[in-house]
Amino acid sequence: MQTVHYETRDDVAVIHMNRPPVNSLGHPLRKDLHEAIARALADASVKALVVTGTDKAFSGGADISEFGGPLPSTEPRLASVIEQMESADKPIVAAISGICLGGGLELALGAHERVAHVQARIGLPEVKLGILPGGGGTQRLPRLVGLKRALTMITEGLIVRASTLSDTRLFAQVVDEDIVSAAIQTARELAAKGAPYRRVRDIDMDEPNAQAILDECRQKLAGSKDKAMQLAQQNCLESVAGTVNLPFSKGLEQERALINMLMESSQSKALRHIFFAERAVTKIPGVAADTPIRDISRVGVIGAGTMGGGIAMSMLNAGIPVTLVEATQQALDRGVAIIERNYENTASKGRITAEDVQKRMALLTPSLAYEDLSDADLVIEAVFEDMDVKKSVFGKLDAICKSGAILASNTSYLNIDELAATTSRPGDVLGLHFFSPANVMKLLEIVRGDKTSNEVLTTCMSLARRIGKIAVVAGVCDGFIGNRMVARYTAAAHGLVVQGAAPQQVDQALEAYGFSMGPLRMGDLAGLDIGYATRKRYKASAPDQWYPHIADDLVEQGRLGQKSGSGWYRYEPGNRQAIPDPQAEEIIRQFRQRLGVSPRVVTDEEVVARCVGALINEGARILEEGIALRPSDIDVVYLNGYAFPRQHGGPMFYADQIGLDKVLADLQRFCSEPGAKSWWQPASLIVSLVNESKSLSQWQKERA
Ligand code: NAD
Repeated sequence: MQTVHYETRDDVAVIHMNRPPVNSLGHPLRKDLHEAIARALADASVKALVVTGTDKAFSGGADISEFGGPLPSTEPRLASVIEQMESADKPIVAAISGICLGGGLELALGAHERVAHVQARIGLPEVKLGILPGGGGTQRLPRLVGLKRALTMITEGLIVRASTLSDTRLFAQVVDEDIVSAAIQTARELAAKGAPYRRVRDIDMDEPNAQAILDECRQKLAGSKDKAMQLAQQNCLESVAGTVNLPFSKGLEQERALINMLMESSQSKALRHIFFAERAVTKIPGVAADTPIRDISRVGVIGAGTMGGGIAMSMLNAGIPVTLVEATQQALDRGVAIIERNYENTASKGRITAEDVQKRMALLTPSLAYEDLSDADLVIEAVFEDMDVKKSVFGKLDAICKSGAILASNTSYLNIDELAATTSRPGDVLGLHFFSPANVMKLLEIVRGDKTSNEVLTTCMSLARRIGKIAVVAGVCDGFIGNRMVARYTAAAHGLVVQGAAPQQVDQALEAYGFSMGPLRMGDLAGLDIGYATRKRYKASAPDQWYPHIADDLVEQGRLGQKSGSGWYRYEPGNRQAIPDPQAEEIIRQFRQRLGVSPRVVTDEEVVARCVGALINEGARILEEGIALRPSDIDVVYLNGYAFPRQHGGPMFYADQIGLDKVLADLQRFCSEPGAKSWWQPASLIVSLVNESKSLSQWQKERA
């Protein structure tokens, strides 16, 4: 397919890039563009060239599916097209609208001038994939926007409107009209002046404070907590510094060496994995792309507590009217007041206007009557986590809701099929598991019941996009993907304390691995009584499988976590800092004694191996059972719902990085400890992949 359209307007050749959706600069486009430019340069009747894209995109940048390892080497490379433009003996003007990012901006920097639409979005966001702009961007952008601005744009991966750069030398014109006509005019003016045409590479960096600016940026990056982007940020800085310290050609060489090093870095591999993983979640095997989507114009939410309020806000933020139903006037008033207060707080920080607050609140209809849900296209239940309460809610909804309405539960653990069976329309029932705070957290687990129809599933996937969530499809089981795995992770952490680690050692080891908060501090924050109540219920239903739990001893001595001033740690009033507590240590000591455990030395490495190993093992079981569709979906859940450190790319990606054989060897070692056999039993998927010398990502590719 032709990816470039060529036309002449009198003496100007206009080359339109057209490779949907965003003119990514993969080989087909580079080749067609190179040929079109050569054609214009060879045509004596052409005096100047304009290179442009579509209204939506000049170009979104490199085709990252070409990023296997080192930079794509098939000619013409991006650098060759840029070189062809820059050294042309006819003036070339880039006409930019829509997005102009990464390689797209680097291409435009190869032109002799640029004209942009005011709304065009400009940036070099490569750092967000753990790399740097490797097509000369770090060498050319500073020459046009100045060192300081370029450093900020490149090290932070900022994307800005063209209008904010109109005071720089980047654009000859920033216009609010037809960019191609404006670019043709600029191109003719350049042609009239005659050669030589200004090449960005020839511009001198005249920045008297260069060293001070570089030092300031170096200092800022040294304090950066973003371990996923840190290495890339530092390499971006060193590459940009080349514009001050090196001649252009040497600067380019250095840029290439730095990007090749980053391409091989574990951080960049992880960030690129995340990029693809977040795109892969939308592909649901067996669901046709043309599955009809139901219209969702009004949503009902039941329960105005922590979750219901946040879910309602997610809808209101996207302009979707919500009917919010509660059991009592008091709970309803409280819930509505919290929503309003949240919006007012956001407005006071300048993130939304007072008018936005009014508009959103006007879309909210509070009610005590289930009958008010009769016109809702989707109802999401967020009442107490109790099967009987939820069943009675679903019974009422079945009687009241119109035909075709989707009925969803926000349950964290309960069986969606059981809920669906209480209705006459199980195909319209599914789980929509939001994470707290629901208006902020990006993750949505969409729990597909046995009978959930493809139409209902697709409609909810599309709604998730509309409200800015990343949706991952999960099957029915206790805790779905995320909560089922986190239970194992937390239990592994508790197990380490029983064996001899101090709570602070467990937390610190996992924080050093990259979690912003260790599992025990997290337990204190969430409240230890939540797990306690679950375990009590579990003990009542399956007493033979119950075992003594160390956190129960803490709760039974009134240590509920931060809210009671003590848990695994103690807390000063009004202060969230976790302070190691000899009283907690004494409770732990007595627990060990009761169980006859002699404490042993635990290494930090072992803490990570056990806690992350528990996640990986449960993740593999979830894959075997078909609860998650692919390993990368589990990573998306963990990164967006449980703050898994991005530099490791998610638990399943990390398993591949350290090697499944190592994971298996660890699990087998833990398994051989007395009483640990069933808990640490390696998932059969891990065993079979190790036998076949395959990684999880190979397994995923083979099944795609
Ligand atoms: P919550 O106690 O804060 O709120 C529940 C609300 O539901 C209360 O305001 C209550 O008055 C109302 N309610 C109870 N029965 C009702 C009925 N029959 N009709 C109308 N309203 C009724 O609880 P929450 O934390 O918001 O949890 C709600 C659901 O979301 C639970 O299923 C929970 O497992 C799930 N969930 C919670 C979280 C979390 O972090 N809190 C995260 C994900 C999912």
